[in-house]
Amino acid sequence: MELKGDVLWGRLPVPGMLGHVNVWLLPEPGGWWLVDSGLPQPAVELAWAGLAEAIDLRSRLRGIVVTHHHPDHIGMAARLAAEYDVPVRCSQATYQAAESALRPEPAAALAAFEDWAAAHGVPADQELRELLTGALYARMISGLPVPAPFLNQGEDLPLSAPWRISLHEGHAPGHVCLYNAVDDLLISGDQVLPSISPNISLHPGGRDDDPLGQYLASLRELRGIPDTAMVLPAHGRPFNHLHSRLDQLAAEHATRLRAIEAALVTPRALDEVVALLFRVRLSDIFNRMLAIGETLAHLRHLEVAGRVRRQGRGPALRWVGQE
Ligand SMILES: [Zn+2]
Repeated sequence: MELKGDVLWGRLPVPGMLGHVNVWLLPEPGGWWLVDSGLPQPAVELAWAGLAEAIDLRSRLRGIVVTHHHPDHIGMAARLAAEYDVPVRCSQATYQAAESALRPEPAAALAAFEDWAAAHGVPADQELRELLTGALYARMISGLPVPAPFLNQGEDLPLSAPWRISLHEGHAPGHVCLYNAVDDLLISGDQVLPSISPNISLHPGGRDDDPLGQYLASLRELRGIPDTAMVLPAHGRPFNHLHSRLDQLAAEHATRLRAIEAALVTPRALDEVVALLFRVRLSDIFNRMLAIGETLAHLRHLEVAGRVRRQGRGPALRWVGQE
């Protein structure tokens, strides 16, 4: 679908609750830059083959921007880059996150996970171990793209209109957003979504000490983008009223933080806090991982603020409110 500024909107299938991921083709004279790429799965490969015909990607694709290292975004980038002989640009933090997820030292990753799980009261079952030590990641992406110059905070990607790069934390390291002031368009990736809140998780081995704090800071930074901008998110439909969406997302987290604090007048195991926040089917391991990570991000944020602390270790660990 064509949007203002001659930007093209494509939608690729993703299994599970998300259902799809949006990709964007940004015009430059005689060609396109693609933002994000979808998962390397047969339905997506078919969609790319169709698009390649429809808009002549073979002669017109000039490059690929990856917003962050999650598989539905970076998944097809290495394969498309090889097929169309174009560079892939992302932040250095995105590249490093993908690289370290792809090449975990199995023993070291497992040891780090066990230690992290014990220190946070995470039940260390086999499925969680596999997910959180990166064993599945390699199967979900088409490879690590060949490094091209990294995208830096504040630089302009010089296409038909300049797209200003900003880097954000909280959802994924060095998440790239792109703002085109000429057409007043913001490509927000997963950083700002219209109807769901992006997952903010504490991860084993993550460099983020307080990912929720970093995410809330990024919501404040994004207020620097005009409220008039049309927002192009990775999931859902393009939307307006960016600033009120930023406020809603911040308010949702504030509500969760208050609910946790209220519940922790009694010491609670992590599972109890997860159940307080999420009523998802936790038999699904992906949902369970997201719910645990997100709950921990909130607990950690309260801990950093001195509102919550931990007692004990391993299965005996309890989260307790101060006072
Ligand atoms: Zn993501």
